[in-house]
Amino acid sequence: MTVYPADDTCPRCGGPADPAALQGTGTLWTWTVQRYAPKSPPYQVPPGGFEPFALGYVELAEGVRVAAVLDVDDLDEIRIGMPLSVTAGPGVPRARPTPLSEEGS
Ligand SMILES: [Zn+2]
Repeated sequence: MTVYPADDTCPRCGGPADPAALQGTGTLWTWTVQRYAPKSPPYQVPPGGFEPFALGYVELAEGVRVAAVLDVDDLDEIRIGMPLSVTAGPGVPRARPTPLSEEGS
């Protein structure tokens, strides 16, 4: 099994775990819209003030579900099963729609 975030012990048996690279592409498993500002800290209010944003779980090709902020232009375009590319960085991972030309690559 593969887990995210990475852990050096196996959550199933407590044995040692090896790091694995994740491709970062997958599909939207489920999602919701955060309509009020989360508790701060850890949430950092953006310079322009709070705007509702979407949070979802992206099911990666490796079978891992990663919680991520969904970077979409319009919340109305979000659909379960839509192809997404996840980028990890400081804080919560971010996912944006996979351009059609990159799908399946
Ligand atoms: Zn194990």
